[in-house]
Amino acid sequence: MSGKVKNCPRCGKLFADYGAHICRDCEDKERELESVVVNYVRDHPKCKIAEIIEETGAHETMIKRLIREGRFEQVGVKMTYPCEKCGAPILTGKICAQCSEKMRKEVQGQASQIVAARQAANAARGQGMHSKDIKGR
Ligand SMILES: [Zn+2]
Ligand SMILES: [Zn+2]
Repeated sequence: MSGKVKNCPRCGKLFADYGAHICRDCEDKERELESVVVNYVRDHPKCKIAEIIEETGAHETMIKRLIREGRFEQVGVKMTYPCEKCGAPILTGKICAQCSEKMRKEVQGQASQIVAARQAANAARGQGMHSKDIKGR
């Protein structure tokens, strides 16, 4: 088994990457921090993400990953983070189900508007070019 030797993105040290993407030391530190975060949330079940970041020094992406992994539920805390659009509590992704549904509809609406505009333009052009003959083939 041989890992790719590269510089750790965290501390810059050379290390053999076996898939962790960070060196052993940083991995250990990350695990340590993870348990600090999980313990903090267990002791402060009503805390907000901003508070966790301030208290533990953990990065938001790590906290969100822990939420997705269900690490807080394991210690009996149902942790959520706010939807980027409306602030509703969510467990996964960036926006809540309602907002993603709304966005999906908006995108679909825009797409059909473009299609309609294109069809109208084609129809207008077609009238001058007798495109009916071509279609008949
Ligand atoms: Zn490192
Ligand atoms: Zn939302």
